[in-house]
Amino acid sequence: MDVKKKEKQLETKVVHEGYHSEEMLGSLAAPLFQTSTFTFDSAEQGERRFAREEDGFVYSRLGNPTVQLLEERIAALEGGERGLAFSSGMAAVSAVLISLTKANDHILCSSGLYGCTYGLLSMLKDKYHINHDFSEMNCEEEVLACLRPETTCIYIETPINPTMKLIDLQMVATVAKRYHIPVVVDNTFSSPYIQRPLEFGCDVVVHSATKYIGGHGDVIGGLVVGRSSFLDGVAMTTQKDIGGVLSPFDAWLLLRGLKTLPIRLDRHSDNAEKIVEKLGTHPRISTIYYPGDREHPNFAIYQKQMKRGAGVISFELVGDKYDVQQFLNNLEFLKIAVSLGDAETLIQHPSTMTHAVVPEAERDMMGITEQLIRLSVGLEAWQDIWEDLEQALNKLDDK
Ligand SMILES: *Cc1c(COP(=O)(O)O)cnc(C)c1O
Repeated sequence: MDVKKKEKQLETKVVHEGYHSEEMLGSLAAPLFQTSTFTFDSAEQGERRFAREEDGFVYSRLGNPTVQLLEERIAALEGGERGLAFSSGMAAVSAVLISLTKANDHILCSSGLYGCTYGLLSMLKDKYHINHDFSEMNCEEEVLACLRPETTCIYIETPINPTMKLIDLQMVATVAKRYHIPVVVDNTFSSPYIQRPLEFGCDVVVHSATKYIGGHGDVIGGLVVGRSSFLDGVAMTTQKDIGGVLSPFDAWLLLRGLKTLPIRLDRHSDNAEKIVEKLGTHPRISTIYYPGDREHPNFAIYQKQMKRGAGVISFELVGDKYDVQQFLNNLEFLKIAVSLGDAETLIQHPSTMTHAVVPEAERDMMGITEQLIRLSVGLEAWQDIWEDLEQALNKLDDK
């Protein structure tokens, strides 16, 4: 029988990729190597390991078997050569941006970013003269118009947090390739089950693994996937020397979370579709932003690069900031919290919470109004989620 090795599908890889029965002594679950350091058989072996003449672990900041299993798994899921794990999404983002830039370089960003990424860019600018600009990136011309001779990185989020606007990954990658500028994509809102930026020609993927990859609201972590030629350098410099590495136990939790990623995201997406439908019928809701919605202005891009809409919906309430706060306070069991991608439905107010650090003028440019609410639809029964949202909306004073 011809048993030619065929590449396994993502649903299989989340469970099996990187499993080496011998190294794991047959343990079905990933062994947790909760150790800071590794012993050498001899002084000579220590010398060889430091000289990188012999494979093997040395010290957990430089590499750990549990963490390495997670790195191999995420690399396979995103379709990249190498993965690296960090202590948070921001440790991952900062390691990548610092690796790609030096003083007086320029970063071109999507016109909407995670609040702390925005903060990091401001710091890089103030302290190290690494400049940045924002672009809507609606078409090639718009990207081209913002590139400068000193642009060394294009950094995008799609869907953009929290407005859920989409950027055409293939279009941006095509323009960038012409000028040999690496494209970095924050894939946190989608996860590799929904969107794989490397397949569209982008160069580096970063994740806040805290969100969908972990999926249970119990760990903070970050991941990066890309070419070995780039990530080997990150591992030896920004990761090793700045040191924001993931702990073995957190890697273990993320490996556990990853196994159910596809089924969780299908459920998040199914629930979100129902909630979008219901929100659309309520008179207190003016606008809804959800990538999988046929009414979404970027629906064509959604069809091209995303498998499902995932769980995050943003919407605008008819009223002002105080109505939004009253609405959140009216909720009975849904939780007011930042973060997303957890089993629990979480709701937050970007302009006073996640994006409060962004100056008002730039918030306006990004479309973050004081009426905008971000909802991360969880895994509960959608009828219960809607019932709570609806009663909280109905309790608002008439407008
Ligand atoms: C949460 C988040 C981050 C930061 O990740 P942490 O794990 O909190 O450091 C970066 N980008 C996006 C889109 C996020 O949602």
